[in-house]
Amino acid sequence: MDYELGDIIRVTRNGNEYEGVAMPSVTGHIVVKMKNGYNVGIEPEGAEITLIEKKAEGKTIPHKEKAQANKNLPNITILSTGGTIASKVDYRTGAVTAHFSADDIVKAIPELEEIANIRGRIITNILSENMKPETWIDLARAVAEEIENGADGIVIAHGTDTMMYSAAALSFMLQTPVPVVFVGSQRSADRPSSDNVMNAICAATVAISDIAEVCVVMHESSSDDGCAIHYGTRVRKMHTSRRDAFKSLNSEPIGHVDYSNREITTNLNYAKRGEKKLKLFETIQPKCALVKFTPAADPAVLSYYIDKRYKGIVIEGTGLGHVSTDWVPEIERATKAGIPIIVTSQCLNGRICDRVYDTGRDMIKAGAIEAEDMLPEVALVKLMWVLGQTDDMDKIREFMQNPVAKEIACCSLK
Ligand code: ASP
Repeated sequence: MDYELGDIIRVTRNGNEYEGVAMPSVTGHIVVKMKNGYNVGIEPEGAEITLIEKKAEGKTIPHKEKAQANKNLPNITILSTGGTIASKVDYRTGAVTAHFSADDIVKAIPELEEIANIRGRIITNILSENMKPETWIDLARAVAEEIENGADGIVIAHGTDTMMYSAAALSFMLQTPVPVVFVGSQRSADRPSSDNVMNAICAATVAISDIAEVCVVMHESSSDDGCAIHYGTRVRKMHTSRRDAFKSLNSEPIGHVDYSNREITTNLNYAKRGEKKLKLFETIQPKCALVKFTPAADPAVLSYYIDKRYKGIVIEGTGLGHVSTDWVPEIERATKAGIPIIVTSQCLNGRICDRVYDTGRDMIKAGAIEAEDMLPEVALVKLMWVLGQTDDMDKIREFMQNPVAKEIACCSLK
């Protein structure tokens, strides 16, 4: 059945039916954005497709378009996943305007053309609260493909709500020889205070720089003077609406981009362009949970995940990394069942140390693994990635307590 991206189609496979807007796919699956906003990927073999409605005139989903190349400039690919930065999107219908073709991005932000040849590619088109680990895999594969095809840098346009999870995921899933830069905007292009132009220009500036890290580039202060460059594993959205919502925690930012002259200054060490070979570690175990402990929380909260056979659990404990004494037997039960329990802190700043108080010592005796100074959501994403690499408890412990992608400040002291 012939259909175009943007058409409404019905796909039937193995007795299941999926109806919605046909979306681009990088994996060969048929991707449909359903009415509830979720995208599903369907194996094409054995699938029957019916065209329900042609897409509305003028609403195209451009895929892999290329502006005319200037040989003297580097090449950047902008991968779009949606969010406010893709603000011409109608999320209810899934329809997309031409905003993310290379030419249209350049039309919207002409300064980009001075920085690089821009190629646009849509991975998905969602608000980032709908992001799923499967899309991290699509994204990581697309980044690797673009680098293999000669991109000198990658910019990933992403919703701000869960950008830190996706940035952490790609930090673990990719070893990159070029910059991979996440960018978003807190305020859409139609608002006078929009941050999307400055953020996009700063992101492109970092994408052609020497900083071959997975990083997040976002507004640094309340004025329009530049952006901070954060490690993908050290950053957090710390405000609901301010443009300077993104902050590095337990670390300084890698550096800063001055918007007036596009100069980059750096504070920290980073992997240099070309230093590392491209590698993709795409296996992850999504069945992991992040559980917040609160005073008097019932240990049954933890029991739920153990009984549902979750593969790993991160606890956001209090202070140095604590839960109440009545949670300790559940920690022991999980550990004995081969489910690693990782402890982080809701303080966010500082390092876990479960040796100071009785509760902490009991947690360690029960098998809890201290996550050093990792942010709770980074520990969750890392655990998913680690469980994709090994199920050996000693190796899991070693991975979780030692840095892989700058997520821990220094090596374990134990
Ligand atoms: N909720 C939106 C999202 O994360 C907000 C944004 O785009 O910044 O996709």
